Amino acid sequence: MSNPNAITPDVVPAAPSDFIRDIVAAHVAENKYPRIHTRFPPEPNGYLHIGHAKSICLNFGIAREFGGICNLRMDDTNPTKEDIEYVESIQADVNWLISAWADDQLGLKLKGKTPEIVTVNGQPDFYLPAVVGQPAKSTTGSGSAPAPAMEPFYASDYFDQLYAYAVELIKRGKAYVCDLTPEETDEYRRHGKASPFRDRSPAENLDWFIRMKNGEFSDGSRVVRAKITVDSPNIWLRDPLIYRIKHADHHHTGATWRIYPMYDFAHCLSDYIEGITHSICTLEFEVHRPLYDWILEALGLPRPLPHQYEFARLSLGYTVMSKRKLMQLVDEKLVTGWDDPRMPTISGIRRRGVTPEALRKFAYHIGITKYNGITDVSVLEHAIRDDLNQRSLRRLAVLQPVKVIITNYPAGQVEELDATNNPEDPHAGKRKVPFARELFIERDDFAEVPPPKFFRLKPGGEVRLKYAYIIKCEEVIKDSSGHVVELHCTADLESKTGGATSARKVKGTIHWVSAAHSVDAEVRLYDRLFTVAEPDADGDFKQHLNPNSLEVITAKCEPALKDALPEARYQFERLAYFSLDPDSRPGRLVFNRTITLKDTWSKEVKKG
Ligand code: ATP
Ligand code: MG
Repeated sequence: MSNPNAITPDVVPAAPSDFIRDIVAAHVAENKYPRIHTRFPPEPNGYLHIGHAKSICLNFGIAREFGGICNLRMDDTNPTKEDIEYVESIQADVNWLISAWADDQLGLKLKGKTPEIVTVNGQPDFYLPAVVGQPAKSTTGSGSAPAPAMEPFYASDYFDQLYAYAVELIKRGKAYVCDLTPEETDEYRRHGKASPFRDRSPAENLDWFIRMKNGEFSDGSRVVRAKITVDSPNIWLRDPLIYRIKHADHHHTGATWRIYPMYDFAHCLSDYIEGITHSICTLEFEVHRPLYDWILEALGLPRPLPHQYEFARLSLGYTVMSKRKLMQLVDEKLVTGWDDPRMPTISGIRRRGVTPEALRKFAYHIGITKYNGITDVSVLEHAIRDDLNQRSLRRLAVLQPVKVIITNYPAGQVEELDATNNPEDPHAGKRKVPFARELFIERDDFAEVPPPKFFRLKPGGEVRLKYAYIIKCEEVIKDSSGHVVELHCTADLESKTGGATSARKVKGTIHWVSAAHSVDAEVRLYDRLFTVAEPDADGDFKQHLNPNSLEVITAKCEPALKDALPEARYQFERLAYFSLDPDSRPGRLVFNRTITLKDTWSKEVKKG
């Protein structure tokens, strides 16, 4: 196969290495499987959070690095907690996170086998192999076409098959129908006591099971249990439940079923049905692994069987991560929704202006281990700043304006000055910013009684206006309450940036906008949602909510920001990174502060 984008062996490897990837690499080397196949299996009972992003990057990352496949699977076996809204949000979030991952594939030295590269219009398309077996909605490798949509698999699509497997276990004498109440079952299991129904015959069990399926019994009146052991030290092996009665309609299968499989039964078999080779999950499932293996073995399924591997979940400082707690914040309106930019959800992080590249870089950077611990949020923030520094368009905007009049600059005169769009990107070019007699500068950039080493504007002092002139503060105008309302300055008209005599230097440079040309924007300044690193630690996480996690102000922006695009990222010079919020309308700009330029929190911590 000749491919214009063929991967050459001397490219620097960009993929991380960790204990799971080492295992996969060994399997590839010994040709253990025809192809590596992973999955990401969320339950659609809430929106995905950044912990899920770690799992997505791991599962899709392995498929991508080893030329394999990764399925997105809705683990939808509990109809009462699940909803189509969550299915759709999960699909959108996964698509967003892995979209255009093909781009950095080209800088990657593949481990093991060469992947099967599917090309679309001569461009490699890595989505197709990742969704083999499911039709993708659209396929595209590059350009401005919409990102290819990943179609999910559903555990509920296997309900017929799972039912047949349960019947098979019953016939083999390896499962039975148990009529104990839920409380009695717990009690018996805790004490390692056998259920009185344990020795029912396969024929009798089958009859009960069929009647359960037909909806003859009420919720909780009986269950199917695997017949494994009554007193194993691993409680999960004490005849665990595999099917239960639930008279509930399902978001994907409707009213078809009155019985639903339990997670442990459905999960290993869904993996098997899809041909998963490496079933990767978080450490809390380690104790379930013997059950995972038992079910596959008990059914005598042809090899190869999938195998489960566990890694440490992501816990991040200054936030909570469980879906249940995030749902409380949404339901109690403590945030504006699942996609509130302060939420650790993928949709919140996206709305805040973080790019998928930054999240993927973060996921790669933190690595995969067997040890649970809290990741410092500064690691995430560093990945975000690094990414935004590379891609952001620089713009001038003033968040807390104070008026400046350049008294020696003619009223009505306007100069169009050159401003650099992105010093990190030589292709980003320049734009014009208008300069005039009346300007706004940041209130903070003026001090009437300046502290030591204050190199910005002060009475009688000089400062450079970025891309423009050096100005000198001649007079401070105050209102009757002593509040500064205007600064009268003179400009050194010989000092224009880039001009013939611009060599003169002063210590400070500040940003500004022309008052007459400026456009107003609503700016949402976000801070951490919680004030402590471990809001979960003492039970009531909500008492640690940061009351100042959102401040809304009106900023004065340079006119170029009128044309801000939702997909672009901006640095308001000297301030922070911003992106357009979906609440924006023609004539109404709304920006979210994604992140400040510097880590102000760690400074405060150091100060005590
Ligand atoms: P939560 O416990 O946060 O409510 P969950 O575990 O119930 O989430 P699932 O939908 O079951 O959410 O998770 C789907 C996959 O994501 C699972 O394989 C799970 O191991 C993984 N996952 C969930 N939370 C994290 C996390 N914090 N870090 C890494 N992986 C995670
Ligand atoms: Mg879970």
